Amino acid sequence: MFNNIYKRDLPDPRDYVFSFRGREVLCVLEDDGAFRCPRVEELGIDKNELIYLFEIDGDRFYLPKKEYGCYINEVQGKGSDCNYNYESIRVLRGANPGYLCFAGMTAYHLYVWYRDNKFCGRCGRETIIHDAERALKCPRCGNIIYPKICPAVIVGVTNGSKIMMTRYAGRPYKGNALVAGFCEIGETAEDTVRREVLEEVGIKVKNIRYFASQPWGFDSNLLLGYFCELDGDPNINMDENELARAEWVERADIGEEAKDLSLTATMMMHFKEHPEYFETK
Ligand SMILES: [Zn+2]
Repeated sequence: MFNNIYKRDLPDPRDYVFSFRGREVLCVLEDDGAFRCPRVEELGIDKNELIYLFEIDGDRFYLPKKEYGCYINEVQGKGSDCNYNYESIRVLRGANPGYLCFAGMTAYHLYVWYRDNKFCGRCGRETIIHDAERALKCPRCGNIIYPKICPAVIVGVTNGSKIMMTRYAGRPYKGNALVAGFCEIGETAEDTVRREVLEEVGIKVKNIRYFASQPWGFDSNLLLGYFCELDGDPNINMDENELARAEWVERADIGEEAKDLSLTATMMMHFKEHPEYFETK
């Protein structure tokens, strides 16, 4: 149970700390894949130097206020049997238990926002933490800065028993993906769906319907999942800057690799396992 009601509570020694360094997170990865982040008492951080993030099932998570690459030396210097290291945040994708993936990427989203808003974008003064809500404020000009969330669409384009699968060019993730992209200023989410599909694979779509959403803190996103149908010519005209591959894949050929925490995977499996959802009435 995720509880993100904003508080300014100081931490207890047993509360958890998500410390980041660039796109890395301070953690222990056990041999069995278990993921653990340090407790306040293990890092020896002054409790006034921690920002409350959220609570999951009674466990509370905090973020250090300053830049924090330094903690690793302090931890190892204690000669304790804990063995924390900064690991790529990609390890969160395989975190055990799985909810720690959500916790870690959500903490990362907040970290990026705090880190990138140390100064007021309007007047340049150093910002301070707001008393009453999740916000930063400028003590000089009064500017209030709220967390930045970037809406983006994930699009399942269907053509009878087939769905459009893509692979991105020049990114670490090599698996199958769906058409996806950020909402631009002035667009509805449905406009984004039509534009992204046209840009990435060169086809037109109709019957756009909302499916589900997912917060995706790795890239500060709120993902909005849509299904839609091919409208007209099925020939693909792929954007080679963006994609390495784009093709129509039969429902039966969607692999079990699609079983993953992401909305993309959920949508692929929904197409595979619930053909009745896609029948045209
Ligand atoms: Zn200002």
